[in-house]
Amino acid sequence: MTFFIDVDDAARLFTQVGIRRAIREMAGYIEADYARWAQFDKSPRTANHSADGVIELMPTDDGQQYSFKYVNGHPNNGQQNLLTVMAFGLLADVQSGYPTLLSELTLTTAVRTAATSALVAKSLARPDATSMALIGNGAQSEFQALAFHEMLGITEIRIFDIDRDASVKLKHNLAAFPDIDVILAGSVKDAVKGADIVTTVTADKTYATILTPEMIEPGMHINAVGGDCPGKTELHADILRNARVIVEFEPQTRIEGDIQQLEADSPVIEFFRIVQGEVAGRENDAQVTVFDSVGFALEDFSSLRYLKDLAQAQQIGQRIHLVPTPANIKNLFQLLDPQPAKASRLRTVS
Ligand code: NAD
Repeated sequence: MTFFIDVDDAARLFTQVGIRRAIREMAGYIEADYARWAQFDKSPRTANHSADGVIELMPTDDGQQYSFKYVNGHPNNGQQNLLTVMAFGLLADVQSGYPTLLSELTLTTAVRTAATSALVAKSLARPDATSMALIGNGAQSEFQALAFHEMLGITEIRIFDIDRDASVKLKHNLAAFPDIDVILAGSVKDAVKGADIVTTVTADKTYATILTPEMIEPGMHINAVGGDCPGKTELHADILRNARVIVEFEPQTRIEGDIQQLEADSPVIEFFRIVQGEVAGRENDAQVTVFDSVGFALEDFSSLRYLKDLAQAQQIGQRIHLVPTPANIKNLFQLLDPQPAKASRLRTVS
């Protein structure tokens, strides 16, 4: 039998442990998996592009467990009141191939993306950082705000979105966390001015320049989340040229990240090297750092592992009959006709 976690189950899980604790714990699983980077089978995701968006498959395995995620990105979906990003995924046993967990991953992707952003920022943002500009106030934004509050102690969030209603929604949702001061800004420039960290999490299928070089101040850390597929970027190329750029898995980020605008050999650092202590994160207080986030399969593997452990501990979720269990494994056909064949119909020839 396969364990199944639907959207309601995932929401109950995150609510029961508390969303901030869930983000922190999931970040722990992600960090543990980055620390054993060499054990993973890695490839850029498979993307099927269309005029309105992209549908992607993201597989990986560590030799023991296999996972994949189905995820889309359709920036215009909002016009029909549909989600921009939605996902589901699966864990399986490598030895037998049997699926062990099937789960929703839309809500979980928001948690894992925010957990990854904050995890990376812990080694890139200045240790005295207290403020963050948050540009793009859609579905991912609350999770980003809470992750940076929980894991980096960010207490001031300046928010901006071209859709004022999205910003009002974000401010309203964050009102439940009174230790975060949420300030509505009138423009990207106003939000970014003086911020220690800048998170961009916008959705537009275009080469956008949400941030331009004159907005960037020494010592800033930029967490660029929304530029995550070919032809969809958020940062002016010169920001990247003048910063220490961290990526998840370089072959995938070259295709999908903001660095798609740069030369193929522009310097980048893969995050696992920082986790493993091979290279430093931030090198000095004046350095500008960029996390060019696109979302990597390893992080979904980690979140599926976390969900499974959490669901079992909280006894939430259900077992489903996803794979047949015939009494005779050579008699799959019996599933169509559960009546055993009559003996009288059997004739033998000798
Ligand atoms: P969403 O559609 O719910 O929200 C996006 C918001 O961006 C909208 O409110 C929109 O009004 C705003 N926006 C668009 N252009 C803007 C601009 N020029 N200035 C300010 N705001 C602008 O989408 P979402 O689910 O929150 O996802 C946001 C982005 O993050 C998407 O591009 C998605 O593909 C990406 N994403 C990346 C990862 C990752 O791992 N890197 C994971 C999930 C989502």
